[in-house]
Amino acid sequence: VDLSSGRLAGFEALIRWQHPERGMISPDEFVPLAERTGLIIELGAFVLERAAHDLATWQKDFPQEPPMFSSVNVSSRQLLDDLPGAVSDLLQKTEIPPSSLRLEVTESLVMDDPERAAAILSALKKTGVKLALDDFGTGYSSLSYLQQFPFDVVKIDKSFVQAMGSDGDQDAIVRSVLTLAQDLKLDVVAEGVEDDAARASLQALGCTYGQGYFFGQPLDADEAHDFIARHTG
Ligand code: MN
Repeated sequence: VDLSSGRLAGFEALIRWQHPERGMISPDEFVPLAERTGLIIELGAFVLERAAHDLATWQKDFPQEPPMFSSVNVSSRQLLDDLPGAVSDLLQKTEIPPSSLRLEVTESLVMDDPERAAAILSALKKTGVKLALDDFGTGYSSLSYLQQFPFDVVKIDKSFVQAMGSDGDQDAIVRSVLTLAQDLKLDVVAEGVEDDAARASLQALGCTYGQGYFFGQPLDADEAHDFIARHTG
């Protein structure tokens, strides 16, 4: 949600597995397994494709300016695969504006092989998609990554957002990240906004976007379509 206007700005695509016998299986269970077995390449391609197609539908049914965006998490194995090629194919196929697709990568992914990551991230950047640094502040948080790599967006980890208000020091961290991001001309998404107090503090601090349960529970694509219908226009 765009915190200055209160408008719905976009979604983060997260995978769920509705198993016919075992019910809902948490991604915490199957994503690490997919990483280990290598299935993450196909799984990641599936998520990316599904997210882009859903986004194309939402953009067509609910045109707005700027267009609604979707953010997709990318794993390190995917980054080593031909991700830029796959992304540009997908952009052509779905005809979504490239800047409405955001790819989220974590610090640890960048750290694994910084040179390789730099090459792939700049190839991705050339396709016109936006790049987000996910879970900012939880890893090694090398501030130099923000300058070294072509990120457009920083996502402040929910642990900092949820601690806001309870402790002055934690507020200071969110404030500092916002200042840093503004100086580097990066958009900021605060994760884990769970109540109106957090939303209001972030808005007062000038944070661009907020995401979290305060704005909505996780939804499947059809539910998201209804949600957008209720929250736009
Ligand atoms: Mn994410």
